[in-house]
Amino acid sequence: MSKDVPLLDTTRKVVIIGAGPVGCLAAIAFAKMNWQVHIYEARPDLRLSSSKAAAQQRSINLAISSRGIAALRAVDASAAERFLQTVIPMRGRMIHDRDGNLQSQPYDRDGQCINSIDRALLNVELLEEASALPNIRLTFKHKVLSADFDQRVLFLRDGDSGADIRVNFDLCIGADGSYSIIRRQLMRVVRMNFQQEYIPHEYIELKMPAGHDEHGNPAFLLDPNHLHIWPRHSFMLIALPNKDKTFTCTLFAPTVEFDRLITREDILLWFKNHFPDALSLLGEDKLLKDFEKNPRSPLITTKLTPYHYKDRCVILGDAAHSMVPFYGQGLNCGLEDVRVLLTLLQEECVVPSRTMPNSGDPESDPMDQRLFKALSRYSASRHEDVVAICELAMDNYVEMRHSVTTPAYIMKKALDHL
Ligand code: FAD
Repeated sequence: MSKDVPLLDTTRKVVIIGAGPVGCLAAIAFAKMNWQVHIYEARPDLRLSSSKAAAQQRSINLAISSRGIAALRAVDASAAERFLQTVIPMRGRMIHDRDGNLQSQPYDRDGQCINSIDRALLNVELLEEASALPNIRLTFKHKVLSADFDQRVLFLRDGDSGADIRVNFDLCIGADGSYSIIRRQLMRVVRMNFQQEYIPHEYIELKMPAGHDEHGNPAFLLDPNHLHIWPRHSFMLIALPNKDKTFTCTLFAPTVEFDRLITREDILLWFKNHFPDALSLLGEDKLLKDFEKNPRSPLITTKLTPYHYKDRCVILGDAAHSMVPFYGQGLNCGLEDVRVLLTLLQEECVVPSRTMPNSGDPESDPMDQRLFKALSRYSASRHEDVVAICELAMDNYVEMRHSVTTPAYIMKKALDHL
């Protein structure tokens, strides 16, 4: 963010619900505009060792693309450069066929790539950034139960004491994920069009351990600069590299396929049939343990509009748009939400007052009117892009598990890189 950002108002308080990556980035953006920022998060602090270990167990690694990186840079350029030190570039897909043959499909002839990053690590880094700013307060183990946007008040429960508390705000940002309470509360006051769809597939995460090089040091078992895919038409396995030389693998399959894998023998036989090379790298014992321990999770797409209410509430990230993960853009899009909102706020704060809109409230002050205009423009301008990304993600669902194996696709890829 440039140093000459106009100050919105040092006395204004934004309350952000959710300390995931999107909530943290939004907090840093508002803090840098001199707002008083208070984040409330239902879970314990991810930075505490016990909760970090728990989060990492079910954590996914993510592909961060230029969309997400641009957003991080727009809010905090030096932090963005630090994050980039921790990523592993993936320059293309590596397709694994049933016979163990490999085919590299580069993403871009000029070498542009996507980047694998540990989701928990990214979140911890953003929490550290946020907590270093004097005008950000972080409160964990506090869950929002409801909101009265007209009175600008949130109702929360303290997870330790069980006490119910009220919190006032000037602006409320819902960054509380796919099952957002802020979104549900918004629906009570806004004529929100809302659509959600569960796809027939679920996913489970499996860990591929590190191997060893000739000196006995940990080494990757697969090329780390590719996103590995084992496409099997109606299901697929993927693997993304981690800094500790392991891979996080994700198996996507229809619920009916998972339901057939009841005994340990079923699971091993299925892997031997469909992913023999991956099985030898995952290890039978480790695979069975992961299958027993790790949850099977559903995949949901949500589309909605508008994202805001008057001058006082807006939802960002998965709270505003969940998408299937096949395009690797869910978080990238959430981070971009923050960048777009920030740009609109900055634009509205320098517009001459004669162009200010009427918020419908005669008593509303000029700053409220500017916020109203910025949030209205955000809802109006963001929706088309968000829907497009959700739809691209759904299209890539078929491309990754099926189309990448078809002769026409392979030929096109080869021609693209001539
Ligand atoms: P979240 O990370 O869900 O954070 C929401 C926070 O709000 C949570 O900490 C939660 O505890 C808190 N909260 C919820 N309710 C309340 C409440 N009532 N009160 C207080 N706090 C509350 N995206 C990519 O860009 N690239 C990828 O490669 C990619 N891969 C993916 C792979 C899989 C298998 C999946 C499932 C997703 C993937 N995504 C990817 C999507 C990405 O994980 C999400 O888009 C991202 O984590 C959303 O961040 P968020 O901050 O909006 O929400």
